[in-house]
Amino acid sequence: MSTLLRNGVFRTLIFVQIFVAVTTLAFLHSLSVSVLQILESLQLLLLFGVAFYVTWLQRAMRAQVATREETERELRRERNTLEKRVDERTAELRAEVSERRRAEQQNRDRNRILEMLVRDEATPIILHAVAEAVSHYSTSLACALHLLQGDTLILAAQSALPSTLAGRLQQIAIQNMDAPESIALATKAVHTMDDLREAHKPWTELLRANGAQSVWTSPISAGDCCLGTISVYSLLLHPPGESDLEFLQTTCQLAALILDHHRMNEELIHRAYHDPLTGLGNRRLGKKGLESAIQRAQRDSRGVGVLWIDLDKFKQINDTYGHPAGDFVLREMAHRITARMRASDIVARMGGDEFMVIVERMENRGDAEHVARELLTLLAQPVHMAETQFSVTASIGISVYPEDGDSAEILEQRADLAMYEAKFAGLGSRTFSTDLIEEHAKRKFLEAAMRRGLEDGAYSLVYQPQCLPTGKLVALEALLRFQHPQLGSIPPSHFIPILEETQLILPVGRWVLQQVCRQLKIWQNAGCEVVPVAVNISSIQFAGGDFSNEVSAILSEAGLDSSLLELELTESLVMHDFSETSRQMQKLKDLGVRIAIDDFGTGYSSLSYLHRLPIDALKIDRSFVEMITEPEGTRPIVDAVISMAHTLGLRVVGEGVETLGQMEALCRGGCDTLQGYLFSKPVPADQALQLLRHRQLMRPLPQLSEGGSLSISVCPARVIA
Ligand code: C2E
Ligand code: CA
Ligand code: CA
Repeated sequence: MSTLLRNGVFRTLIFVQIFVAVTTLAFLHSLSVSVLQILESLQLLLLFGVAFYVTWLQRAMRAQVATREETERELRRERNTLEKRVDERTAELRAEVSERRRAEQQNRDRNRILEMLVRDEATPIILHAVAEAVSHYSTSLACALHLLQGDTLILAAQSALPSTLAGRLQQIAIQNMDAPESIALATKAVHTMDDLREAHKPWTELLRANGAQSVWTSPISAGDCCLGTISVYSLLLHPPGESDLEFLQTTCQLAALILDHHRMNEELIHRAYHDPLTGLGNRRLGKKGLESAIQRAQRDSRGVGVLWIDLDKFKQINDTYGHPAGDFVLREMAHRITARMRASDIVARMGGDEFMVIVERMENRGDAEHVARELLTLLAQPVHMAETQFSVTASIGISVYPEDGDSAEILEQRADLAMYEAKFAGLGSRTFSTDLIEEHAKRKFLEAAMRRGLEDGAYSLVYQPQCLPTGKLVALEALLRFQHPQLGSIPPSHFIPILEETQLILPVGRWVLQQVCRQLKIWQNAGCEVVPVAVNISSIQFAGGDFSNEVSAILSEAGLDSSLLELELTESLVMHDFSETSRQMQKLKDLGVRIAIDDFGTGYSSLSYLHRLPIDALKIDRSFVEMITEPEGTRPIVDAVISMAHTLGLRVVGEGVETLGQMEALCRGGCDTLQGYLFSKPVPADQALQLLRHRQLMRPLPQLSEGGSLSISVCPARVIA
């Protein structure tokens, strides 16, 4: 437009010049100037005009060129700015796209990891996916995920690490404070090393030598505790930006979630297969363990021993001292069993007070029997709980693969059966044999008859005399008998454990007390001068807590003088819980009943304990009396016990006296009363009445004593043969 304008002006100027020239010519002509003169002057004028015009033209053109250049420059500037803006925008868009892609990748990775978690994939695989997510974040980044085990960080997963660097990072001791992992763990915060060159530490030099330039590490935390670390190793110099650190934090949170999930899973599995009380495997694990042991044994043609352990009278511990005490005993027994076995042996709690031990790589049955014997000794050691001392015994049944069965189920059943028979035979341990099946059936048959026994009149009492060294009867002991309609008379050593295990001892024990009181009353009514009668009391009767009330009720029901009743409590019962027992004993003493400690010497009590109990007498166990006349026998012990018991004001009864020698030895030691076949076997009530009437069971012999302490000698003059 300006060019056009400029051309218009130019044309006007030419017109003006021509007009001036023509006007000048006309004027000169009018002045009669010759044409030549005019032409001369015109030539000058024209030259001048042309010169002027050329100069003007040049100037105009220069101006035009300058304008055009300026325009072009302006255009270039505009284009540059535009290009710059386009470049900037492109870069922005590119950054946005890669950021979005990265975010999408992160999302994909996170979702994949969560899906893996939901699918319950193995934790190492999921952790590997976490490490991979870091290297997806940037191609120059590698990742190392360490888990804390004790005081070492173990490389659990990695991605894109050069193999030599991965080798170096396998294990990091947390004491190595040059390692970024240890620092992050100690400070519980992200630790960055922007340029490993600047650290000048042997460890960082080592990392650098293996390709790392920068590293940032964050602890994996769950609550207050650190589970491990995630490190990002940059193979280029790469100080982390804010978003990088944010990404690292999120990755650590994800790892913590995975580890927490793993821990929960492990816990659930552990719970499903373990007994929370003892920490041992439970029935399910025991069964699985036995199945695998059988498979291993099949491969290497060796035997497997199954030991089925059952604690004796465990219910009584629970009833007497409460469940916490029962739990304590179970934990203690579990501990003793595991301590005896090898770490590879399987020990499981199969039920309330039942444990199973699997002995692998057995040469013969003897191996399992040997382990059983050792376990029995270990389990029978006293249990100390606060002020209380328990003595718990166990019974063990043994079955052996392949002889006794080839499946876990059959082996378990047979070991269990052998255990029952061991318990009822009072044998401690028993190995399965086919005879046991019959014995077991017989025992079940017996058990059924015993349940009906009170109604059927199958129980009866016999009485065994206790005499002074002079042979004079001073007391009786009532002993229970059971007559089976088909099996005949069953020995107490056989049926008393059944009564105790089935709790039948409670009604039967009450019946014994009632029967004794009634019997004394009958003898009194028959005009006989009676002596105190001793009744054996099972620890289960004592465990109830209101035993003294029961005794009191029975005495008053019979209208009997309480001093005629003596209760025999076993030593092990007394030692179960000293304070509780002495409290209960005191209540019985307050009734006026006499108390004796039976089977003294077989438990763990010491005389110093006993003097704090309200007792009247001590019965020295038959096993001591049996050996009293042996050259290296029990005489010194028996003498010491008698003299100490006397110091404590206790009467001493010697049990199981069968020979004159035994009697003499006891009497020399100062034993007050004697009981045994030498005087009389236990006899039914009618015969006991005769003994009561006669009173003198032995005829004194002329003095034989050389030591002076034995005042009389005796010769058998039994009233009853
Ligand atoms: P215990 O209380 O030690 O009873 C003494 C046992 O020794 C009795 O056996 C008796 O017959 C036996 N005995 C006595 N003198 C001799 C002897 O000179 N030589 C030999 N070899 N044995 C002799 P029994 O009657 O078989 O009773 C065994 C156990 O059964 C008793 O041992 C007692 O612990 C228990 N028992 C018996 N009756 C009852 C009862 O009514 N209740 C409870 N809870 N237990 C009872
Ligand atoms: Ca007794
Ligand atoms: Ca006894």
